[in-house]
Amino acid sequence: MIGYEFGVLEPNASAAVRQTLLVAFYALFILAALAAWLLVLARAGSRAAEAETGHQTAMLLDEIAAHERTDAALQTAKAAAESANTAKSRYIVGVIHEIRAPLNAIFGYAQLLEAGGTLRPDEAIRTIRRSAAHLSNLVDGLLDISQIESGALHLHRDLVDFPDFLDQLVDMFRLQAQAKGIVFKDERARMLPRHVHTDEKRLRQILINLLSNAIKYTPKGEVRLNVQRRGLVTEFTIADTGNGIRPEDLAKIFEPFERGHLPASNALPGTGLGLTISKLLTEILGGEIAVESTPGQGSAFKVRLLLSEAQGAEAVAPPRRMTAYAGPRRKILIADDDADHVRLVSDVLLPLGFVVLSVADGPACLALAQDAAPDLIILDISMPFMSGLEVAGRCGRGGEGADLDGLGQSA
Ligand code: ADP
Repeated sequence: MIGYEFGVLEPNASAAVRQTLLVAFYALFILAALAAWLLVLARAGSRAAEAETGHQTAMLLDEIAAHERTDAALQTAKAAAESANTAKSRYIVGVIHEIRAPLNAIFGYAQLLEAGGTLRPDEAIRTIRRSAAHLSNLVDGLLDISQIESGALHLHRDLVDFPDFLDQLVDMFRLQAQAKGIVFKDERARMLPRHVHTDEKRLRQILINLLSNAIKYTPKGEVRLNVQRRGLVTEFTIADTGNGIRPEDLAKIFEPFERGHLPASNALPGTGLGLTISKLLTEILGGEIAVESTPGQGSAFKVRLLLSEAQGAEAVAPPRRMTAYAGPRRKILIADDDADHVRLVSDVLLPLGFVVLSVADGPACLALAQDAAPDLIILDISMPFMSGLEVAGRCGRGGEGADLDGLGQSA
């Protein structure tokens, strides 16, 4: 436009002007292209930088979320560890409390007896014996619980003659109930299996705990053992018409040392461990235990267990009796100062074909072990002159040729 207008005004200079304008146009065009190119490059760079920043931010946010999750998990683990720690401390305080009361009684009465005075010795001795029995029950219960909790308890798969097993329980408790003037009812489903597989000792322990509680906490009326079977599940109900348990105590009574708060029940002796053990045992046998109770009317404990029925030949096979053993005659040395124990062990071993030697103390045992080189020595721990453990140590060191395997069991 400028070249054209200039050409109209100055026709002579129009060619030069057009030329100049054209050069200027191309120069500016190249500059503009360069500027546009730089601009595009800058935009692309900033977009890439923005994308990278976005990516980094997202990664950071992910990391923060992961840290939050880890932190939450750590907090939960910390809370669980703290509550386990508190529970353990409470348990230990409970143990100490339970041990201290009978110990104090023993200590106090022993001091009174020592000082002489007006105290009747038979009464003091009765209290001491009762307290010692309580301590012994406590120790047994605590051992059971620690064994179960540490997983050291090994379950057996016994073949149990079920009706006979129940008869034994009923015989044991019918007399106790009679002595207390209460009725014992034994109710069983008609189609109970003849033989079942379970850990006989542990099942008996559960039922004995529940039945002895039922009799203990029932001043009058009746205690009922009811056994039903649905499919493979056997349900034992131990019901009574006794003191009952307050609703607020129902959840707690399965915890160690919890004895509820019913005065009538608290007045009776107990460790507060029986139900804890029964519950733990029921659970490791794969079953469940439940309770329903009304104060003043009675309680019903239900144990549901999967008891598989033993079939055919397995069920009717008589227990295997050992009569002898194969291989060379083995020599066994018994060291025990109690002649009855020596006789008992000899009576078991001699008919099986063992050569049995016996001595009454440690030095004699060492001397005979040297001469006779027995295959096994059965040692009593407490013997005159030298303890069984010391004898075992010397035999081990001297290498008398005695095989000390199984010494742990005999000890
Ligand atoms: P213990 O009998 O040694 O006190 P347990 O753990 O066996 O300990 O029982 C805990 C508590 O539960 C008892 O102290 C008692 O208060 C209550 N209890 C258990 N069984 C019965 C029952 N059959 N009737 C009433 N109370 C019961």
